[in-house]
This record gives sequence, structure tokens and C-alpha cells, in this order.
Amino acid sequence: MTAVTPSALEARAALALPYTEVDDMFIHGAWTPALGTDRNPVTDPATGKVWGSVPDGTPEDVDAAVASARGAFDGEWPRLAPSERAAYLLRIADEVDTRAKELSLTNTRENGSPVSESAGAAANAAGIFRYFATLAGYLEREDVRAFPKGGGESVVRRDPVGVCALIAPWNFPINLVVIKLAPALLAGCTVVIKPASPTPLSIRLIVDAVAAAGVPAGVVNLVTGSGRLGDALVKHPDVNKVAFTGSTPVGRKIAAACGELLRPVTLELGGKSSGIVLPDADLDAMSKVLIRSSMRNTGQTCYISSRILAPASRYEEVVDMVTATIAAGKQGDPLDPETMFGPCATESQYRTVLEYVESGLAEGALATTGGRAATLGGGLEGGYFVEPTVFAGVTPDMRISREEIFGPVLCILKYDDVDEAVALANNTTFGLGGLVFGRDPEAALAVADRMDTGSVGINFFASNHAAPFGGRHDSGLGTEYGIEGLNAYLSYKSIHRKPLSGPITPTIGG
Ligand code: NAP
Ligand code: MG
Repeated sequence: MTAVTPSALEARAALALPYTEVDDMFIHGAWTPALGTDRNPVTDPATGKVWGSVPDGTPEDVDAAVASARGAFDGEWPRLAPSERAAYLLRIADEVDTRAKELSLTNTRENGSPVSESAGAAANAAGIFRYFATLAGYLEREDVRAFPKGGGESVVRRDPVGVCALIAPWNFPINLVVIKLAPALLAGCTVVIKPASPTPLSIRLIVDAVAAAGVPAGVVNLVTGSGRLGDALVKHPDVNKVAFTGSTPVGRKIAAACGELLRPVTLELGGKSSGIVLPDADLDAMSKVLIRSSMRNTGQTCYISSRILAPASRYEEVVDMVTATIAAGKQGDPLDPETMFGPCATESQYRTVLEYVESGLAEGALATTGGRAATLGGGLEGGYFVEPTVFAGVTPDMRISREEIFGPVLCILKYDDVDEAVALANNTTFGLGGLVFGRDPEAALAVADRMDTGSVGINFFASNHAAPFGGRHDSGLGTEYGIEGLNAYLSYKSIHRKPLSGPITPTIGG
């Protein structure tokens, strides 16, 4: 049993977040009582104890929220100049900053992200709003394109796509909404947000920030409830676009529904990414970024490289470094600022992760550290903790090597030459993240170029607000972040014109 430090217990005692029972959702600019009476509990995964509850919304709540968003889309919001909407984004960012502490604590109590992680959530969210505000000029720039011949021209409009459904998972409950909300608002869209069932509370603080910034009623709406509610939202006749982050199986269902409806959809799904350690890699430098790049947020991060591919010539050295680094990361109360690894976010995720750990052991992988549930004291006995686990001797056919685990489990595979490393990295149905560790920048870039994935880091990984982020293959459709992420909320219109007295313009196509 690992001791819990007094500082963590003091932090837990000082938290004083009251038992939080809410009965409303945000509709038409006001916190509005839910129409049904069913509720969903909110559980602290560090203790396994319920600490609040929210309404389990009904299709009627979805109707009300979508009607509110539709009304606002028919109003002034899409007709404001983009720079006017950008001014709202900047005000929201300031309001988010003032809620940083509450956001961090609420997030940590909802999903067990260590406070060292959630402390950055507000700054990151505010940064996303501020970044998208800088793109107002892109939307305002006149775009007039001449016909190749004949004297006519086309005025290209970037219209907002309409009412958007924003559906998020529980692992980064603030960021994964805000990365949709900020570009949607700048584009002139109106939205209905549905957070994941385990994490319905922290996003309320973002909605509060939106309200405090004076965003007109109906532009942003929030409903809480289960996947059934998400399904009703996706298929609602008055929704024009769906932006979803979550698992690949649910993503497929949403893609099928949107295909039938011919409704634009952005899907950010699961991953199984690889970190290729080149023979010249600096293992000390790699050790410093390892947890962030391969086990961030207790392994519950979509793009992390949870498969380390090590050259046979240095395999033992890599296994020793990875094992020592992971074993040295403190696991404990996520409210303790020293904690690197918290609990799994939900009981079902805890069971899934333990099942993967058992399958790794059964298939003959060697756990060099971890390999079982963790039992913590100090009030955390009921928490969903799994010991951070490193598996060596992993082969490509093992389930732990092929499937997304989404927990604190790393696999280390062996390769003989760089071609084999690239083939191993690409031998997955996913294509979301990836890493290359190496000292020679040219060689590392050449390997990164050969990886069939949406993002690759060289010697570190982070997402950049200004660069597109998205998955290939089973990891999704479309991108978020950057101008490309803004484009997902636009609908183009070309207005063709020529002087009435001018020559006849040849038409192209049918
Ligand atoms: P999930 O089970 O797919 O749920 C995601 C969201 O969809 C939740 O709000 C969920 O509601 C809702 N939902 C469930 N069924 C639905 C349906 N039929 N129609 C519409 N919405 C539905 O995913 P999760 O377990 O929360 O999150 C973990 C997954 O997210 C992992 O696979 C991870 O890789 C992925 N992820 C991807 C990215 C990325 O950017 N690519 C980032 C982070 C996470 P309930 O919670 O109420 O079921
Ligand atoms: Mg789920």
C-alpha cells in the first residue's frame, strides 16, 4: 500500500467543493430546469464516491436546445463581422482565466486528471479562444477570383455552416469542447454541447464564462445526458454539422448517421501510436519527455505513443530507461501537485485497463514495472488506480500491441532496422500520433515523413493551436486546430458576376 502524503490529504480537505447537485442545463442564455427527472451521478474516480449529479436529458431537452441554437442562428450572431465575434472570444478567454482554479479542481474531481495536468486546462482553453480570435482577418479578407477567361469573376463567401452539435469525451473535458466551440463561434455558428456522462460539470464553468462575456442568448447551449442523448442530437433535423471526439466505434455510428443525412461531420477518434527510438537517440532527453509523450494523463490521451519501438542494439538500455522513468513517476491523489499518475477516469475504464494488463501477461509479455491494480490508502481505497505498467518483450500480434488501451500501460517492441520500425509503426488501423527520438534532425524528419499518421513529434509532442490536428484511417475524419479547423465550420458559396455589357463567359461543368 502506497502512503498518501499529508499535503495531498490537506489538498483534498481544503478542496471544499460542495456536493454538487444540479437540475438545469444552459438553454437560450439561461440555466433552465431539465424537462425530465432522470439523473446521472458524478463520481470522483480517486475515491469511487459519488459527489454530485446532473440531469440525464431527454429528447425534449435536445429539442429545446436545438430550437434555441436555431433561433440564434436566424438572429444577429452570424451577421456580425468576424472581428466583432473575435472580440467576444477574447472576452470569453478572460472570463475563463478567472475561473482557472475552479476549472482545475472540478476537472480533477470528475475524471481524476492530476492537478499538475488540469491546472493548465484554463490557460489552454483561453489560449484556444485567443488563437481563433486572430483568424477574424482571414474570414474578413475579400476573396474575389477571376474566371480563367471571359472577364467574369467569382466572389467567394465563407458562410457559417449553421447549428453545430459538439460532442466530447471525458479525458480532456474542457479542451475537447473548446477546440470545437472557439472556431464554431468565430465562424458565426451556434452550438449545442453534449459533454461525456462522467464529466458534465467542468464544462458548465466554460458556459458560465461564455455567459459572463455577454454572448447573445441561444448561441451556446449545453445539455447533459448519456450517449442516447448524443444520438438524438446527431440526428436532430435542425442540426447542420456534428463535431465529435471519442471512441472509434461510436465515431462509426455517428459517421453512418451523418452519411445518411448528408450532414458534415468531424471525427477525432482513437489511436495506437508509436514512438520510434532511432539508434542515435539521446535516452536522457527522451526520459524527460517520456511521461508527457507516452503516458500523459495516466495514459488517457488519444495521441500518446504508447508503443515504444526500440532498436535491437539498444533494447535493454531502452527498457531500463523507460522502466526507471515510469516507476519513478509518483502515483497518488490527483489533488496532490506532485502526482504524475492518478486513477483511471471511470470504473469501467479501470476494468478495461486491468483486462488488458492481464491479457499482456497471458500472452507472454514481461511487466518490468506495475502489472496490477494499485491499492492506495488515506481515503483512496475505493479509487480506480492501476499501477503504471511497462511491458517488455511485446510482439506485434499481442492485443496490448494492437488495441487502444487508454490507461497507464506502455509496450516496448524490438526492431532490427529503420525500415522495420516504420513498418511496425504503420502496422495499425489507426493513424493519430507518433514520435521519433533521434539526434540527427534530417534522419528524424525523414522517418517522421514515412509515418502514416496525422501528427508526429520529433523528440517531444505537443499540439499547436495553429497547426492542423486530426487522425487518418480509424482515427477519424477531418481536422481541428489551425485555419483547417476553422474551415470545418464554414460553408462556401461562390457568387459569379460579370459586367452586363461584357463578353459571354464560358461555363465550366454542368
Ligand atoms: P465515447 O464512448 O465514444 O464517448 C464520447 C462521447 O460520445 C460521449 O459524450 C458519449 O456520451 C457520446 N456518445 C456515446 N454514444 C453516442 C452515440 N451513439 N451518439 C452520439 N454520441 C454518443 O468515448 P469516451 O469513452 O468518452 O472517450 C475515450 C475515447 O475518445 C478514446 O477512444 C480516445 O482515443 C478518444 N479520444 C480521441 C481524441 C482525438 O482527438 N482523436 C481525443 C481524446 C479522446 P456518454 O459519455 O454519455 O456515453
Ligand atoms: Mg465510453
